[in-house]
Amino acid sequence: MTAVPTRHRARRPLWTQHACPRCAGDVLAVLRLPHGWRTEQGTEVTGFTEIVLCARCDLDDPITGPIVTFFAVHEIATDRTVDVLARLIRRWIENARPARLDQAALDAEIDAWYRGDL
Ligand SMILES: [Zn+2]
Repeated sequence: MTAVPTRHRARRPLWTQHACPRCAGDVLAVLRLPHGWRTEQGTEVTGFTEIVLCARCDLDDPITGPIVTFFAVHEIATDRTVDVLARLIRRWIENARPARLDQAALDAEIDAWYRGDL
C-alpha cells in the first residue's frame, strides 16, 4: 500500500460561500455597515447592510480593484503582505456607502408585478 500525498484546503469561511448577487461570481469579502432610514411616518429604521466585494464585478473600481488584484496575486494575506491588504481594506471601508434605493426601478418592478410580468 502506498500513501499518496494529498493537498488539503481549509474550508472556506462562511461569508465567502455566498455568490455575488450581481453576477453569481466569487465573493472575496463582505463589508457590514450600520444602515438606516426614516419611514414616511417618521419611524427610524436601523440595522445593517452588507456590501459584497466580488472578484468579477469590482475589479475595475479604483477602490476595490486593488483588493481583487491582491487576492488574485497572493490568494491569502501573510505576515509579509498583511499590511498592504489592511491598507487596501481600510481605504475600502472609508469609501464604502450603502447602495441607494433606485425608486424608479422599484416602481417599475412593482408595476410589472401588478401586470403579472414577474
Ligand atoms: Zn459579481
